[in-house]
Amino acid sequence: MAEKLIVPRSAIAASRYKNSESAFLAGGTEINRLNSYVDAKTLISIGRLGLDTINDAEIDGKPYLRIGATATFTDCIENPKVPEYFKQACHFMSSMVKRNMATVGGNVAIARDDSYLIPTLVASGALVEFSNEKIITVKEYYLRHFRHANKLIVAIYIDPSAKVRSKRYSNTASGHAYVTVAVCEKNVAVQIKGAGLVDTSRLEASSDRSEAFCLEWAEKVKNKNIKSDMFGSESYKRYLAGVTVSMLCKEGAR
Ligand SMILES: Cc1cc2nc3c(=O)[nH]c(=O)nc-3n(C[C@H](O)[C@H](O)[C@H](O)COP(=O)(O)OP(=O)(O)OC[C@H]3O[C@@H](n4cnc5c(N)ncnc54)[C@H](O)[C@@H]3O)c2cc1C
Repeated sequence: MAEKLIVPRSAIAASRYKNSESAFLAGGTEINRLNSYVDAKTLISIGRLGLDTINDAEIDGKPYLRIGATATFTDCIENPKVPEYFKQACHFMSSMVKRNMATVGGNVAIARDDSYLIPTLVASGALVEFSNEKIITVKEYYLRHFRHANKLIVAIYIDPSAKVRSKRYSNTASGHAYVTVAVCEKNVAVQIKGAGLVDTSRLEASSDRSEAFCLEWAEKVKNKNIKSDMFGSESYKRYLAGVTVSMLCKEGAR
């Protein structure tokens, strides 16, 4: 339970307060959740820093849509500039009440193993910007465990013209996703509950998207955290991952 609330006036000031005992308070849907991953003595409110705008941007000559970190899922769904593939990922959060509060930055920051947005962002080659203006890919953010650093995310950059197809498997619309797959051209992101994003480099190195090849890839993925649990057996999750990659890629080729 937090004991102190700080309301800084700028992103730079907010990041100065951050340490291992504090957390940024964005939408608060994770922080205030029962059994939350976040246990902080001090909360640093970032809701009034003006980080919620959605604008066209350009990086190295390439057009992007810059989504401010405190833009909510609803802000994205209602904004005509936001591409449908990203709106679909926002809709993976089935509760409208939560969508009105939860922020894009908060979702990326915690990078859960059943994340609504990470697979789509990784497959589409999205970028993340910190308060010191450093920009890296969301994939790098995830793989290099930046989420354990005390960095304030100020924006996410998405490719407005990316052709992303994604699918999320859960027992109910509001339940945990046990497998989520997103594909975009040669990029493939596969997230499995317990394991998070699994290694898709062998898939991405090949252009073979036949069911046989994708199933063989899924069977051989080395990850000791893909386990049988209440959501299904290990082999079922591997099977789902393999057939879904193949199916989504074939859909895209049509
Ligand atoms: C019932 C329930 C079920 C949920 N199920 C899922 C689920 O299946 N998948 C899923 O992905 N999420 C789930 N969530 C968590 C949550 O709703 C989302 O992940 C949401 O997007 C988090 O954003 P927020 O703004 O509410 O974050 P907050 O709760 O405000 O913050 C969460 C964490 O992110 C950090 N943070 C927030 N903003 C930033 C920033 N700009 N820069 C750096 N760090 C930041 C904070 O320090 C904190 O540690 C669930 C929540 C509830 C209540």
